[in-house]
Amino acid sequence: MAVSQQPIGTIEPDFQFLNEIQQRSGQSVSSCYRCLKCSAGCPMAEEMDFPPDKLMRMVQLGLKDSAIKSRAIWLCTGCVACSDRCPNGIDVAKVIDSLKQMALQEKVTMGEPRIVAFHESFLDTVKQYGRLHEVTMVALLKLKTRDLMSDVGVGIKMFFKGKFPPMPQRIKGRADVAGLFRIADSDSKPAAHGGAK
Ligand code: SF4
Ligand code: SF4
Repeated sequence: MAVSQQPIGTIEPDFQFLNEIQQRSGQSVSSCYRCLKCSAGCPMAEEMDFPPDKLMRMVQLGLKDSAIKSRAIWLCTGCVACSDRCPNGIDVAKVIDSLKQMALQEKVTMGEPRIVAFHESFLDTVKQYGRLHEVTMVALLKLKTRDLMSDVGVGIKMFFKGKFPPMPQRIKGRADVAGLFRIADSDSKPAAHGGAK
């Protein structure tokens, strides 16, 4: 397992962090007793610097900087296996989503900038056309990552197989899709009231 050897106990704790994440996610992170069932079922744990149980502990201990700059939060695929397995009923994936939101809002150095660029390129394309247009998405991704040449061979093959239509198709319900983005934007803001379940 590629678990970080970083001595997380020596980093300055942020005592508001636990409350903030509990409010955003609506999850009682403080009730996690580190049984490790979430990490045992996580398909990405081997690749993560901090597997989900460790992320939960970092939130409990106020280790905000390490948590929101971790690679783990971006390697999480949102499969919710951890949430399903938690004997405490904690939706761990939701907690990790809250960490992602916070990392984006605070514009920290991302642990996995290429994955963030991929998400942004995908969403920007859907926002514009109401559906995915692969060529636009790949062009945006290449510009964001400044990696123009990798995968060119695969791209050409896909183009000749008709998988990369050159012109985007705009759907009729673009206004509805724009509405979904507005809801997601407002949901990503920290709640003024409320707390962990
Ligand atoms: S499964 Fe739940 S209680 Fe166990 S370590 Fe993970 S989050 Fe904590
Ligand atoms: S949601 Fe993320 S952390 Fe949870 S099991 Fe899936 S990949 Fe692992």
